[in-house]
Amino acid sequence: MESVYIHIPFCKHICSYCDFPKVLHIDSFVDDYLESLQKEIEENYEGERIKTIYIGGGSPSCMTKKERIKLFRILAIFNRAPDCECTFEINPKDIDEELLDNIVTGGVNRISIGIESFDPANLKILDREADFDDVAKKLELVRRRGIENINLDLMYAIPNEKLSVLKTDIKKLLKLNPTHISTYSLILEDHTKLKNEKVEYISEDLDSKMYETIVAKLKKAGYSHYEVSNFAKDGYESKHNLNYWNNGEYYGFGLGASGYKDAFRYTNTRNIHEYIAGNYKQESILMSYKDQMDNELMLGLRKMKGINLDDFFEKYNENIQNVYPIKELLATKELIYKDGYLFVNPSKIYVMNEILVKLI
Ligand code: SF4
Repeated sequence: MESVYIHIPFCKHICSYCDFPKVLHIDSFVDDYLESLQKEIEENYEGERIKTIYIGGGSPSCMTKKERIKLFRILAIFNRAPDCECTFEINPKDIDEELLDNIVTGGVNRISIGIESFDPANLKILDREADFDDVAKKLELVRRRGIENINLDLMYAIPNEKLSVLKTDIKKLLKLNPTHISTYSLILEDHTKLKNEKVEYISEDLDSKMYETIVAKLKKAGYSHYEVSNFAKDGYESKHNLNYWNNGEYYGFGLGASGYKDAFRYTNTRNIHEYIAGNYKQESILMSYKDQMDNELMLGLRKMKGINLDDFFEKYNENIQNVYPIKELLATKELIYKDGYLFVNPSKIYVMNEILVKLI
């Protein structure tokens, strides 16, 4: 157990596609929420050395100074490793010297910004704002305050989006010179404003061209494609997310958060009233030995490097090919085995889900 996810569900505005557990920021709610969060942590945290903390949301940066200070006081309970990676999700609009002071004092050394797109038509559909010049200025402040490790999120496959629009977004994102880029193909989730508006997905063909374009352009710009949708400069891979893909255990605290501990995968309630009342858990499922192996495979193959087969044997006392139809997929070149690692053929990564279905 070395990772902790903290969910701060408050937002000042609700985006049209958003399916995350979130509520509008209301001062009186925040205090109650933080108290409940503190109790949940105190009741469950067992004092382990923590190597990564990820404070996500919601928009954690929309909290007031007082609320942020309270949050970081709560998080001081964690026994952090000296090189603990601590990420804070931030809205560029909220960035000022005071916020940077708060988060740096709280131990934050990595920020993540959901840019998604700079294109006015895309932003209108997503119900978001992003201004390139403003983001560039704010990132200067962040770097001056000593935070070099910066992730920017890029969304693509937005209804009506053209390939040329995505190319312009990529160009602008690269100009901002982040150390890490996470990409997402838009999913129209149930019960979102966008889904209710009955907008159409772009064609699958264009979606796959967009993915290929992202991979080609980011690799050309010096980013390593280390996970299906994630790209990093050397040494800036997300340690927190690598723990997920390595099927490692982690705590999840807060509204709608999920965690994995002592072979149980659990999800917290998405109902803020229940959460504040202290009824945290919604579901807790014991992973059988086979479930654990399935997850190891499904998550591990998301990494371009794949799964180390010696590690798999050591962990499960099983040869992977005795449990899964690996040989067939090696024969069709959907999977590749090299230097002790099993991985999805990079040319077939776009159809990875189909490969996983054949495997499991
Ligand atoms: S996408 Fe992020 S900022 Fe927008 S409503 Fe959802 S959680 Fe809030």
